[in-house]
Amino acid sequence: MRVRLETLGCRLNIGEVEAMARQLACAGHRLVPPGETADLCVLNSCTVTASAARKSRHLLHQLRRANPNAALVLTGCYAELQPDRVRLAGADLVVGNADKDRLVQILEERGLLTDADPVPDVDASPTPVAAGWRTRAFVKVQDGCDNRCAFCIVTVARGASRSRPAEDIVRQIRELTAEGYREAVLSGVHLGSYGHDLGQRDGLSRLVRRILAETELPRLRLSSVEPWDLDDGFFELFSDPRVLPHLHLPLQSGCDTTLRRMARRTTASQVSALIAAARAAHSWMAVTTDVMVAFPGETEEEFEESFSFIERASFARLHVFRYSVRVGTPAARMPGRVDSAVATSRSRRMHELGARLEEEYKRRFLGRRARVLWEDAEPYGLGLRWSGLTPNYLRVLTETPAGTNLLNASTETELLQAMPGAVLGFVPGVSIQSTFAAPPFVRSA
Ligand code: SF4
Repeated sequence: MRVRLETLGCRLNIGEVEAMARQLACAGHRLVPPGETADLCVLNSCTVTASAARKSRHLLHQLRRANPNAALVLTGCYAELQPDRVRLAGADLVVGNADKDRLVQILEERGLLTDADPVPDVDASPTPVAAGWRTRAFVKVQDGCDNRCAFCIVTVARGASRSRPAEDIVRQIRELTAEGYREAVLSGVHLGSYGHDLGQRDGLSRLVRRILAETELPRLRLSSVEPWDLDDGFFELFSDPRVLPHLHLPLQSGCDTTLRRMARRTTASQVSALIAAARAAHSWMAVTTDVMVAFPGETEEEFEESFSFIERASFARLHVFRYSVRVGTPAARMPGRVDSAVATSRSRRMHELGARLEEEYKRRFLGRRARVLWEDAEPYGLGLRWSGLTPNYLRVLTETPAGTNLLNASTETELLQAMPGAVLGFVPGVSIQSTFAAPPFVRSA
């Protein structure tokens, strides 16, 4: 069958769809891109914010319009919380989050997946890497969450925290490495609670050590970990060069009063201490974060306190979210809704701060060398412009002659110049001198 897979939202959703893609390709089905007619469409939806829910509905309608004869399957958090609404909107089947990992099997059982080519046409649907899917794999290790942050609908949509068996994760990473993947991003709803349901308070650290010991994976990245989950040995993990110096630590607010109202199990000073420990563990450590503005009851003083904390903490990158009412969360019933114009102004200021901090962080590495994993390219001038990531999560661009193939290559790269949203890089012997004339290279890391 011709199958179209679509996902919205978090890295966990991406990882889940990648897993479905592999199962479908191995079963002989062909994955088709947008614009090509599909026999079956699967949408992994999101509802973390009101706009994410809107996008889920919009994509559902688009898929239906583009594939009027296809079977339309909805899964993910929006489908989990609004099953009737998505059925009304034209979904043929709704698969809840608890059954998502078995989605392909359910489709076969329901007769929605047929005509599998008994001898999978490897040329038609080769492995994800060859198909240019990704060079980095999002590996789901955990699902659900036992916390009750007041604004969060995910904990409602995904249920209680549960960990995948470590041997399954190690096996998957071995398969990915054998297929050519060079980086895996461990993902979950509440990654830091990995193993807690298995009686292991230090479950995530144990898992990372096991992956390092039992696989050849060159680069291991962690997706977001909540500040209250890091066990004593956690920062030692970064002494292994295969564990990438990037820690995404969702803060949400730098003001303790707001954090208490959010029911976040941390304080600004605790996060400060973690940031200091992270930077002590690796001099290149990129500490990135999520911050929310306009949470119900947020006063001007609270916002300024949060803003100043974030400015002092010098995060490498901010993901700024404006509070979004999610029915079914405690915050949706809280008084003190922040005026829309005030919320817009706070969001703009936080975005500007984020841009400044990101620029400052980037500039620390100009003139140095880093190992960049190249992910994709686009035509540029007479050649190609390649895009890749450093271990400390800097986006790097470089220009090469048209015939150069850096896909999934990992190269020592000179970090020359700051650019909007990226750094201009130079791969000796490969890159062509960019249209941006660069100062001579000085020293390596
Ligand atoms: S830790 Fe909080 S924000 Fe994160 S998924 Fe759980 S409830 Fe939501």
